[in-house]
Amino acid sequence: MTTITSYNPARPADVLGEYESADADAVDRAVTAAAAAQKAWAKVPIPGRADIIAECGRLLAERKDELGTLVSREAGKVLIEGGGEVQEAIDMAAYVAGQGRGSWGDVVPSELANKMAWTTRMPVGVVGMITPWNFPVAIPSWKCFPALLAGNGIVIKPSELAPVSGEAFIAVLAESGVPDGLIQVVHGTGETGAALTTHPGVGAVSFTGSVATGRKVAAAAMETGPRLVSLELGGKNAMIVLDDADLELATDGAIFGAFGSSGQRCTSTSRLIVQRGVAAELVDRIRARADALVLGDPTDPATDVGPVITRASAERIAGMLDDALADGATIAGTSGITSVDGCDGGAFFLPTVLTGVAPDHRIARHEAFGPLLAVIEVDGLDQAVAVVNQVEYGLSAAIYTQDVNQALRAVDAIDTGIVYVNAPTIGAEIPLPFGGTKHTGNGFREAGSRGIEQFSQVKTVYVDYSGRLQRAQIDT
Ligand code: NDP
Repeated sequence: MTTITSYNPARPADVLGEYESADADAVDRAVTAAAAAQKAWAKVPIPGRADIIAECGRLLAERKDELGTLVSREAGKVLIEGGGEVQEAIDMAAYVAGQGRGSWGDVVPSELANKMAWTTRMPVGVVGMITPWNFPVAIPSWKCFPALLAGNGIVIKPSELAPVSGEAFIAVLAESGVPDGLIQVVHGTGETGAALTTHPGVGAVSFTGSVATGRKVAAAAMETGPRLVSLELGGKNAMIVLDDADLELATDGAIFGAFGSSGQRCTSTSRLIVQRGVAAELVDRIRARADALVLGDPTDPATDVGPVITRASAERIAGMLDDALADGATIAGTSGITSVDGCDGGAFFLPTVLTGVAPDHRIARHEAFGPLLAVIEVDGLDQAVAVVNQVEYGLSAAIYTQDVNQALRAVDAIDTGIVYVNAPTIGAEIPLPFGGTKHTGNGFREAGSRGIEQFSQVKTVYVDYSGRLQRAQIDT
């Protein structure tokens, strides 16, 4: 049996927890236990399930500071972002609990007399979830609450890089009244994920992570059984800034979008597509603000930017930077792996602005998942939109302009699941659908009213009370 260890990325000597890695047998036991508990759970009236989710929201609110600090320590995001992440889970609990007393389907008029038709939702049984380290509380909450409301059991595998925060969230759920056994947590690396997503007892798989792993998950999951598979696979998100934009606002958006969470959100801004007339001034403004950001221990309230998740990740980002320079980009200001006093061995990477980037450069096409902002100059809106759309991802995009016509043309033409006007590419709100086009996902949306679709099957019901055979499409 191997062990996984969780470290504080700012100070790796600070160990947060250790877990035994689950092999295929351990995963099988977890799925079996969740499936056994699910049978009774599916009989609990939906508002009763919702009440437990609402209680979880209340407990999370009581523990917001404690959990937010844990997230900050384990995932490396600054305190206000750790708190914001817990707030996402609180908001999600309120939203999903409300769904439990809302519509559960559609009633549709039948074409025939004395006949009724409606839809309802069924649980899938057990949902297998693989969640990432960058939102170790929020993403589990986005998946667990709707899965529970739909009447499912859960086996969740939190990222091996942030397992303690995942465990802490699940502990709050258990305390809220979720029946024993219904939620199982498995940890591990190397084999645990595949054992879970291909287990025959798993009725739906929900994965958030990289495109490469998502493809493997989807292929294997469908090969081994009919099941729902929902994927959220990141982005190469762009912010367009046109000549007439409010540059101070655009600078605020670029700093928060590119360097918040050290650029490690799936919606982080990694491309700044700027109209030539304002490019130099905007880069100067962003560079000045980036230079003033304080790198440090994310649990110190004075810190603006924490570490990236691991030393290996910092080195991967440095490799992308080298590729960008080899392709012809230039660093505007400072860049690279750095150290911070009091954070021995911490994986820190300086917020970096790259100019002279062309749309076909590697840095303009591949997800960086780090604090790298690639600046691409364009002549106008049409070229900007073409550049936004030419990557394989389609998660989030933003446009900064004061011209409503240009803004709405961009909203129409941009091929992403989320578009912001005069706001950065990050900032999703719970009641709205979250997800993307192209390789970002496979059509499902998290959050919002459609979040439940990943975890339930629709059943269509016809009731004929005419007492005789009525033939749809034949009898009129
Ligand atoms: P991965 O995409 O590689 O996902 C790792 C998780 O997937 C682990 O839990 C792992 O568990 C599981 N896994 C790996 N292979 C399989 C498989 N064949 N079948 C089932 N599960 C599998 O993420 P990383 O954390 O390594 O991050 C790599 C990159 O992913 C980042 O640099 C970033 O670009 C992107 N990313 C995107 C996120 C997003 O929000 N969309 C979030 C985090 C990362 P096990 O090893 O046990 O199988």
